[in-house]
Amino acid sequence: FILMWILPGLLFYIIWRQTSKSLQARLGAGGNFMSFGNSGAKIYADSDIKTTFADVAGQNEAKEMLSEIVNFLHNPQKYTDIGASLPKGALLVGPPGTGKTLIARAVAGEAKVPFFAISGSEFVQMFVGMGAAKVRDLFKQANEKAPCIIFIDEIDAVGRARGKNPNMGGNDERENTLNQLLTEMDGFDGKKGVVILAATNRPESLDKALLRPGRFDRRIPVELPDLKGRVAILKVHAKNVKMGSDIDFDAIGRATSGASGAELANIINEGALRAVRQGRAYVTQADLEESIEVVIAGYQKKNAILTEAEKWTVAVSYT
Ligand code: ADP
Repeated sequence: FILMWILPGLLFYIIWRQTSKSLQARLGAGGNFMSFGNSGAKIYADSDIKTTFADVAGQNEAKEMLSEIVNFLHNPQKYTDIGASLPKGALLVGPPGTGKTLIARAVAGEAKVPFFAISGSEFVQMFVGMGAAKVRDLFKQANEKAPCIIFIDEIDAVGRARGKNPNMGGNDERENTLNQLLTEMDGFDGKKGVVILAATNRPESLDKALLRPGRFDRRIPVELPDLKGRVAILKVHAKNVKMGSDIDFDAIGRATSGASGAELANIINEGALRAVRQGRAYVTQADLEESIEVVIAGYQKKNAILTEAEKWTVAVSYT
Protein backbone atom coordinates (compact mmCIF):
# COMPACT_ATOMS: atom_id res chain seq x y z
CA PHE A 1 0.00 0.00 0.00
CA ILE A 2 2.85 2.37 0.93
CA LEU A 3 4.68 1.61 -2.32
CA MET A 4 1.56 2.07 -4.44
CA TRP A 5 0.07 5.25 -2.97
CA ILE A 6 2.15 7.10 -0.42
CA LEU A 7 5.55 6.90 -2.09
CA PRO A 8 4.51 8.34 -5.50
CA GLY A 9 2.58 11.11 -3.71
CA LEU A 10 5.60 11.95 -1.64
CA LEU A 11 7.81 11.91 -4.71
CA PHE A 12 5.54 14.31 -6.56
CA TYR A 13 5.45 16.61 -3.57
CA ILE A 14 9.24 16.74 -3.35
CA ILE A 15 9.61 17.44 -7.08
CA TRP A 16 7.02 20.23 -6.90
CA ARG A 17 8.82 21.79 -3.94
CA GLN A 18 12.14 21.73 -5.77
CA THR A 19 10.85 23.28 -8.99
CA SER A 20 8.93 25.99 -7.18
CA LYS A 21 12.05 26.81 -5.20
CA SER A 22 14.25 27.09 -8.28
CA LEU A 23 11.63 29.20 -10.07
CA GLN A 24 11.46 31.49 -7.09
CA ALA A 25 15.23 31.82 -7.05
CA ARG A 26 15.17 32.73 -10.72
CA LEU A 27 12.56 35.42 -10.18
CA GLY A 28 14.90 37.05 -7.71
CA ALA A 29 14.81 37.62 -4.00
CA GLY A 30 11.41 38.50 -2.64
CA GLY A 31 9.61 37.37 -5.77
CA ASN A 32 6.96 34.80 -5.03
CA PHE A 33 5.89 33.11 -8.21
CA MET A 34 2.41 32.52 -6.85
CA SER A 35 1.74 36.21 -6.19
CA PHE A 36 1.00 37.76 -9.54
CA GLY A 37 -0.67 40.79 -8.00
CA ASN A 38 2.71 42.26 -7.26
CA SER A 39 5.28 42.86 -9.97
CA GLY A 40 8.14 42.61 -7.47
CA ALA A 41 10.16 44.92 -9.69
CA LYS A 42 11.70 47.90 -8.02
CA ILE A 43 10.73 51.27 -9.38
CA TYR A 44 12.99 54.03 -8.18
CA ALA A 45 12.11 57.66 -7.93
CA ASP A 46 14.94 60.05 -8.52
CA SER A 47 14.21 62.83 -6.09
CA ASP A 48 17.28 64.98 -6.54
CA ILE A 49 17.31 66.04 -10.16
CA LYS A 50 19.81 68.74 -11.03
CA THR A 51 18.77 69.19 -14.66
CA THR A 52 17.00 72.47 -15.38
CA PHE A 53 15.66 74.22 -18.45
CA ALA A 54 19.03 75.97 -18.76
CA ASP A 55 20.54 72.60 -19.75
CA VAL A 56 18.11 72.30 -22.62
CA ALA A 57 19.23 74.49 -25.48
CA GLY A 58 16.69 75.65 -28.03
CA GLN A 59 13.30 73.84 -27.92
CA ASN A 60 11.69 77.04 -26.68
CA GLU A 61 8.14 76.03 -27.63
CA ALA A 62 8.41 72.78 -25.70
CA LYS A 63 9.85 74.57 -22.68
CA GLU A 64 7.10 77.18 -22.80
CA MET A 65 4.36 74.56 -22.96
CA LEU A 66 5.87 72.63 -20.08
CA SER A 67 6.52 75.63 -17.88
CA GLU A 68 2.80 75.66 -17.09
CA ILE A 69 3.18 72.21 -15.57
CA VAL A 70 6.17 73.43 -13.55
CA ASN A 71 4.08 76.37 -12.38
CA PHE A 72 1.29 74.07 -11.34
CA LEU A 73 3.62 71.82 -9.36
CA HIS A 74 5.14 74.84 -7.66
CA ASN A 75 1.91 76.52 -6.82
CA PRO A 76 -1.11 74.21 -7.14
CA GLN A 77 -3.23 76.48 -4.95
CA LYS A 78 -3.46 79.09 -7.67
CA TYR A 79 -4.97 76.57 -10.07
CA THR A 80 -7.23 74.68 -7.68
CA ASP A 81 -8.68 77.94 -6.31
CA ILE A 82 -10.17 78.73 -9.66
CA GLY A 83 -11.24 75.14 -10.15
CA ALA A 84 -8.83 74.25 -12.91
CA SER A 85 -7.12 70.92 -13.07
CA LEU A 86 -4.05 70.56 -15.18
CA PRO A 87 -3.72 68.08 -18.04
CA LYS A 88 -2.75 64.76 -16.54
CA GLY A 89 -0.34 63.96 -19.27
CA ALA A 90 1.68 65.39 -22.09
CA LEU A 91 3.16 63.53 -25.02
CA LEU A 92 6.59 64.58 -26.23
CA VAL A 93 6.79 63.75 -29.91
CA GLY A 94 9.97 63.89 -31.95
CA PRO A 95 12.81 61.98 -33.57
CA PRO A 96 15.35 60.15 -31.36
CA GLY A 97 18.05 62.19 -29.71
CA THR A 98 16.21 65.50 -29.78
CA GLY A 99 16.19 65.78 -26.01
CA LYS A 100 12.79 64.42 -24.96
CA THR A 101 14.18 62.63 -21.91
CA LEU A 102 16.30 65.65 -21.10
CA ILE A 103 13.29 67.98 -21.20
CA ALA A 104 11.22 65.66 -19.00
CA ARG A 105 14.03 65.53 -16.46
CA ALA A 106 14.32 69.31 -16.63
CA VAL A 107 10.62 69.66 -15.78
CA ALA A 108 11.18 67.56 -12.66
CA GLY A 109 14.34 69.49 -11.85
CA GLU A 110 12.65 72.86 -12.23
CA ALA A 111 9.65 71.82 -10.16
CA LYS A 112 11.90 70.07 -7.61
CA VAL A 113 9.70 66.99 -7.51
CA PRO A 114 10.58 63.27 -7.67
CA PHE A 115 11.00 61.77 -11.13
CA PHE A 116 9.91 58.24 -12.01
CA ALA A 117 11.48 57.14 -15.29
CA ILE A 118 10.43 53.92 -16.95
CA SER A 119 10.61 52.64 -20.49
CA GLY A 120 7.50 51.35 -22.24
CA SER A 121 9.24 48.08 -23.01
CA GLU A 122 9.74 47.43 -19.29
CA PHE A 123 6.01 46.88 -19.01
CA VAL A 124 6.16 44.03 -21.47
CA GLN A 125 6.86 41.09 -19.19
CA MET A 126 7.31 37.37 -19.38
CA PHE A 127 4.25 36.38 -17.37
CA VAL A 128 0.67 37.30 -18.09
CA GLY A 129 -0.49 39.99 -15.73
CA MET A 130 2.96 41.15 -14.68
CA GLY A 131 2.95 44.20 -16.95
CA ALA A 132 -0.38 45.34 -15.55
CA ALA A 133 0.92 44.74 -12.04
CA LYS A 134 3.91 46.90 -12.79
CA VAL A 135 1.66 49.73 -13.98
CA ARG A 136 -0.33 49.41 -10.74
CA ASP A 137 2.85 49.48 -8.68
CA LEU A 138 4.14 52.52 -10.50
CA PHE A 139 0.99 54.54 -9.96
CA LYS A 140 0.73 53.44 -6.34
CA GLN A 141 4.24 54.65 -5.63
CA ALA A 142 3.68 57.86 -7.57
CA ASN A 143 0.55 58.59 -5.56
CA GLU A 144 2.53 58.20 -2.36
CA LYS A 145 5.20 60.60 -3.58
CA ALA A 146 2.89 63.18 -5.17
CA PRO A 147 3.54 65.78 -6.41
CA CYS A 148 5.83 64.01 -8.84
CA ILE A 149 6.47 63.30 -12.49
CA ILE A 150 6.21 59.95 -14.23
CA PHE A 151 8.14 59.67 -17.48
CA ILE A 152 7.35 56.79 -19.82
CA ASP A 153 9.94 56.61 -22.60
CA GLU A 154 8.99 54.95 -25.91
CA ILE A 155 5.39 54.59 -24.91
CA ASP A 156 4.61 52.99 -28.28
CA ALA A 157 5.95 49.72 -26.86
CA VAL A 158 2.78 49.41 -24.75
CA GLY A 159 0.56 52.04 -26.32
CA ARG A 160 0.26 50.68 -29.85
CA ALA A 161 -3.29 50.61 -31.18
CA ARG A 162 -5.21 47.57 -30.01
CA GLY A 163 -6.81 44.95 -32.16
CA LYS A 164 -5.10 45.84 -35.44
CA ASN A 165 -3.85 42.31 -36.04
CA PRO A 166 -6.59 39.99 -34.86
CA ASN A 167 -4.84 37.01 -36.43
CA MET A 168 -1.57 37.54 -34.68
CA GLY A 169 -2.78 36.52 -31.23
CA GLY A 170 -0.42 36.59 -28.28
CA ASN A 171 -0.88 40.32 -27.93
CA ASP A 172 -3.30 40.03 -25.08
CA GLU A 173 -0.65 40.70 -22.48
CA ARG A 174 0.27 44.03 -24.03
CA GLU A 175 -3.38 44.97 -24.33
CA ASN A 176 -3.96 44.15 -20.67
CA THR A 177 -1.06 46.39 -19.75
CA LEU A 178 -2.40 49.20 -21.91
CA ASN A 179 -5.87 48.81 -20.41
CA GLN A 180 -4.38 49.00 -16.95
CA LEU A 181 -2.48 52.16 -17.91
CA LEU A 182 -5.68 53.76 -19.22
CA THR A 183 -7.56 52.80 -16.07
CA GLU A 184 -4.85 54.17 -13.80
CA MET A 185 -4.73 57.44 -15.72
CA ASP A 186 -8.47 57.84 -15.27
CA GLY A 187 -8.31 56.81 -11.67
CA PHE A 188 -5.95 59.29 -10.14
CA ASP A 189 -6.84 62.73 -9.05
CA GLY A 190 -5.45 65.41 -11.36
CA LYS A 191 -5.34 67.92 -8.55
CA LYS A 192 -2.91 65.83 -6.55
CA GLY A 193 -0.02 66.74 -8.79
CA VAL A 194 1.01 63.53 -10.53
CA VAL A 195 1.96 64.51 -14.07
CA ILE A 196 2.70 61.88 -16.67
CA LEU A 197 5.04 62.71 -19.50
CA ALA A 198 5.56 60.22 -22.28
CA ALA A 199 7.88 60.21 -25.26
CA THR A 200 7.47 58.63 -28.66
CA ASN A 201 8.70 59.08 -32.19
CA ARG A 202 5.72 57.28 -33.71
CA PRO A 203 2.63 59.09 -32.45
CA GLU A 204 0.49 57.75 -35.29
CA SER A 205 0.81 54.20 -33.99
CA LEU A 206 -0.63 55.03 -30.57
CA ASP A 207 -4.04 53.89 -29.47
CA LYS A 208 -6.67 56.60 -29.80
CA ALA A 209 -7.80 56.03 -26.24
CA LEU A 210 -4.42 57.23 -24.99
CA LEU A 211 -4.76 60.54 -26.79
CA ARG A 212 -8.23 61.53 -25.74
CA PRO A 213 -8.73 64.48 -23.34
CA GLY A 214 -7.96 63.57 -19.76
CA ARG A 215 -5.05 61.39 -20.79
CA PHE A 216 -2.24 62.50 -23.07
CA ASP A 217 -4.18 65.39 -24.47
CA ARG A 218 -1.23 67.70 -24.92
CA ARG A 219 1.12 66.99 -27.71
CA ILE A 220 4.45 68.75 -27.49
CA PRO A 221 6.59 68.60 -30.61
CA VAL A 222 10.31 68.26 -29.99
CA GLU A 223 11.90 68.85 -33.37
CA LEU A 224 15.41 68.60 -34.74
CA PRO A 225 17.17 71.87 -33.91
CA ASP A 226 17.59 74.64 -36.48
CA LEU A 227 20.85 76.56 -36.94
CA LYS A 228 20.27 78.73 -33.87
CA GLY A 229 19.28 75.71 -31.83
CA ARG A 230 22.33 73.74 -32.97
CA VAL A 231 24.70 76.54 -32.02
CA ALA A 232 23.01 76.83 -28.62
CA ILE A 233 23.26 73.06 -28.02
CA LEU A 234 26.95 73.09 -29.00
CA LYS A 235 27.55 75.91 -26.55
CA VAL A 236 25.73 74.12 -23.71
CA HIS A 237 27.86 71.04 -24.18
CA ALA A 238 31.07 72.99 -24.70
CA LYS A 239 30.73 74.52 -21.25
CA ASN A 240 32.32 71.53 -19.54
CA VAL A 241 35.09 71.12 -22.11
CA LYS A 242 38.25 73.22 -22.47
CA MET A 243 37.92 75.02 -25.78
CA GLY A 244 40.65 76.76 -27.77
CA SER A 245 40.34 80.37 -28.89
CA ASP A 246 39.74 79.55 -32.56
CA ILE A 247 36.38 77.86 -32.06
CA ASP A 248 33.63 79.07 -34.35
CA PHE A 249 30.36 77.46 -33.26
CA ASP A 250 28.45 79.09 -36.13
CA ALA A 251 30.58 77.29 -38.67
CA ILE A 252 30.06 73.96 -36.90
CA GLY A 253 26.32 74.65 -36.66
CA ARG A 254 26.16 75.34 -40.40
CA ALA A 255 28.02 72.15 -41.22
CA THR A 256 25.70 69.95 -39.17
CA SER A 257 22.26 70.61 -40.59
CA GLY A 258 19.92 67.77 -39.72
CA ALA A 259 21.95 66.66 -36.70
CA SER A 260 20.07 65.92 -33.49
CA GLY A 261 20.98 67.22 -30.05
CA ALA A 262 22.48 63.87 -29.13
CA GLU A 263 24.72 63.94 -32.23
CA LEU A 264 25.86 67.47 -31.46
CA ALA A 265 26.73 66.45 -27.90
CA ASN A 266 28.66 63.56 -29.38
CA ILE A 267 30.54 65.85 -31.77
CA ILE A 268 31.85 67.90 -28.85
CA ASN A 269 32.87 64.75 -27.00
CA GLU A 270 34.58 63.20 -30.03
CA GLY A 271 36.44 66.50 -30.50
CA ALA A 272 37.66 66.35 -26.91
CA LEU A 273 38.75 62.72 -27.35
CA ARG A 274 40.68 63.65 -30.49
CA ALA A 275 42.41 66.47 -28.63
CA VAL A 276 43.51 64.02 -25.94
CA ARG A 277 44.73 61.55 -28.57
CA GLN A 278 46.89 64.28 -30.05
CA GLY A 279 48.22 65.30 -26.64
CA ARG A 280 46.57 68.70 -26.46
CA ALA A 281 44.90 70.19 -23.39
CA TYR A 282 42.15 71.99 -25.32
CA VAL A 283 39.87 71.41 -28.29
CA THR A 284 40.47 73.21 -31.57
CA GLN A 285 38.22 73.96 -34.52
CA ALA A 286 39.98 71.25 -36.54
CA ASP A 287 39.07 68.68 -33.86
CA LEU A 288 35.42 69.59 -34.13
CA GLU A 289 35.47 69.55 -37.93
CA GLU A 290 37.03 66.12 -37.91
CA SER A 291 34.52 64.84 -35.37
CA ILE A 292 31.57 66.04 -37.47
CA GLU A 293 32.72 63.56 -40.07
CA VAL A 294 33.28 60.86 -37.47
CA VAL A 295 29.80 61.30 -35.98
CA ILE A 296 27.98 61.65 -39.27
CA ALA A 297 29.99 59.32 -41.51
CA GLY A 298 32.02 57.13 -39.13
CA TYR A 299 35.75 56.82 -38.55
CA GLN A 300 38.21 57.29 -41.39
CA LYS A 301 39.27 53.91 -42.77
CA LYS A 302 42.99 54.39 -43.17
CA ASN A 303 43.63 50.89 -44.49
CA ALA A 304 40.91 51.03 -47.08
CA ILE A 305 42.89 53.11 -49.58
CA LEU A 306 42.60 51.70 -53.07
CA THR A 307 45.78 50.66 -54.82
CA GLU A 308 46.48 51.91 -58.34
CA ALA A 309 45.52 48.52 -59.77
CA GLU A 310 42.21 48.47 -57.90
CA LYS A 311 41.38 52.00 -59.06
CA TRP A 312 42.11 50.90 -62.62
CA THR A 313 39.77 47.91 -62.22
CA VAL A 314 37.02 50.10 -60.85
CA ALA A 315 37.38 52.87 -63.42
CA VAL A 316 37.92 50.95 -66.64
CA SER A 317 35.64 48.29 -67.92
CA TYR A 318 36.93 46.02 -70.67
CA THR A 319 34.57 45.10 -73.37
P1 ADP B 1 15.53 61.44 -26.70
O1 ADP B 1 14.93 61.08 -25.38
O2 ADP B 1 14.73 62.44 -27.47
O3 ADP B 1 15.92 60.28 -27.54
P2 ADP B 1 17.65 62.43 -25.06
O4 ADP B 1 16.90 63.36 -24.19
O5 ADP B 1 18.00 61.11 -24.48
O6 ADP B 1 16.88 62.22 -26.41
O7 ADP B 1 18.94 63.17 -25.57
C1 ADP B 1 20.20 62.58 -25.58
C2 ADP B 1 21.27 63.58 -25.27
O8 ADP B 1 21.35 64.56 -26.30
C3 ADP B 1 21.01 64.34 -24.02
O9 ADP B 1 21.50 63.68 -22.89
C4 ADP B 1 21.76 65.65 -24.27
O10 ADP B 1 23.11 65.51 -23.90
C5 ADP B 1 21.71 65.81 -25.76
N1 ADP B 1 20.70 66.80 -26.17
C6 ADP B 1 19.63 66.55 -26.97
N2 ADP B 1 18.91 67.66 -27.18
C7 ADP B 1 19.50 68.65 -26.46
C8 ADP B 1 19.21 70.04 -26.25
N3 ADP B 1 18.16 70.64 -26.80
N4 ADP B 1 20.05 70.75 -25.45
C9 ADP B 1 21.11 70.16 -24.88
N5 ADP B 1 21.43 68.86 -25.04
C10 ADP B 1 20.65 68.09 -25.83
